[in-house]
This record gives sequence, structure tokens and C-alpha cells, in this order.
Amino acid sequence: MKQNTARLTRRLYDFRGSPLIALAVGVLFVLEKRYALRKQKMPLPDRLKTNAAIVSTAVPVLRLILIPAMVRAAAWGQKNSIGLLQHLKAPQLLKDTLAFAALDWTNYIWHRLNHRWPLMWRFHQVHHTDLDMDVTTALRFHIGELFTSVPFKAGLVLLFGASPRTTLIYEVFFELANNFHHSNLRLPEQADRQLASVIVTPRMHGIHHSVVEEETNSNYSVIFNLWDRLHGTLKLNVPQDSITIGVPYVRKHQPADQLLTMPFNVAPA
Ligand SMILES: [Zn+2]
Repeated sequence: MKQNTARLTRRLYDFRGSPLIALAVGVLFVLEKRYALRKQKMPLPDRLKTNAAIVSTAVPVLRLILIPAMVRAAAWGQKNSIGLLQHLKAPQLLKDTLAFAALDWTNYIWHRLNHRWPLMWRFHQVHHTDLDMDVTTALRFHIGELFTSVPFKAGLVLLFGASPRTTLIYEVFFELANNFHHSNLRLPEQADRQLASVIVTPRMHGIHHSVVEEETNSNYSVIFNLWDRLHGTLKLNVPQDSITIGVPYVRKHQPADQLLTMPFNVAPA
């Protein structure tokens, strides 16, 4: 089982998903400079250096621990017929679609818990203390947050009975969406409006990264904003030029070493 899941992960995630994600990051990085949504306030080299350092700690945890844990949980669930969708008599495509949606809902819940529970916020705040937001913010996550997500996310993969394949495909789409909505890309207004009726856009996620508490406590979804609509946390129509990105109690650029120790030093406000 371990070898099969490793092979599937290499095939779907490493050889197909990762080049696509890397391409998306590159394209967004170029486009967001040309078509900027919000005026950036911080020098880019400082943020680049910091975010690259944090991302370089997050990626190994994501690829070597979180993804294998989720895929192995999915494979174990399938082998032992565990998981809600395993017992649903329906075409496989429908079950995979439902599993994909369930995983997206799982991430909405996980994100909300990170804001709700003070101990989890200590780690998640590292992501929110970026004083500007662009595609480099997308994987600026403290490894503590990634580690604590392992039992939650692998457990829910098992509970829903998602297949290893769907789990990996979801993970690729998760990362593509994550890069897209963190980017500072200004889309044409009509395209933005149409996209925002279904998926999370940079405009929507910018509101979530606002220093204003009421705005931060909105727009938690990753791919589909249906979850914010269902849970009553959707917030649209906040003008982007009125948004100050970050958290109110950290208004100075923090280098990577301070971000890594931040969960143990900076108390949540
Ligand atoms: Zn958040």
C-alpha cells in the first residue's frame, strides 16, 4: 500500500500537479506586477526573502508528511471499506465529485478553526502578518500549522472515504486556488464578478487578510465560496483600496526567524 500510494503521488502530484502549480505561481507573479489589485506598501525584496524562507520550511512538511498522510489514510479507508462515500451506491464519478467538495468544505472548517482557537491562531497568524499580499503569501505557513493539520485532514479524508486519486487531485486544485486567491491580480470587473459567484477570487481573499476583525472573520473558503455562503461568512464589496493587509498588532516587517518563533512569543490579540 505504501509503495502504491507513493507511486500514485509521484505520478499525479509530482509529475503532473507540481509543474502546473509552479507555472501558475510564475504567471501570477508576473501578472500581479502588471495588473495590481492593491497598492503594495512594503519593499518586495524584504518580503520575498522572508516568504521564500518560510515556504522552504513549509514545502517539505507538505510534500513529505501532510500529503502522504492524507493519501495513505485514503488508501487505508478504501482497503477496509471505511468512509461515508464507500457505502454510497452511486457512480464513481459522482462519489469522486462529492469527495472533492467534502475536502474543500474540510479546508473551510480547518481555516475557520485556525481563527477561532487561540492556540491555532498563534500559528496561523504567521500567514496573516504579511503586510502585503501576493502569490508569495500563498505558502507562507508556519510548519506548526501544517503539522497540526495532519490528523485533522487525514482523519476527514478517512471519514468521507475519498479515494487516493481524488485526494491528490484535490490537493493540486487546492494549491492552484490558494496561489490564485492570494495573488494581487486585478481581474477585469465583470470576469471577477462572474468568478466570484463560484470560486474565491483575489478580491474576496484580500478582505479576509484585512486588519479589520469583522473583515478577517469572513471569506475562509479555499476553492468554492459556497462554504462561506452556506455558513454566512461571505463578504463582498469591500473596496480594495480601503483594506490594510495584515494584523493590527504586528505592523512591522518580521524576518523569517522571528516568524518561526512568533507562535511562542506573540500572544494573539
Ligand atoms: Zn486566515
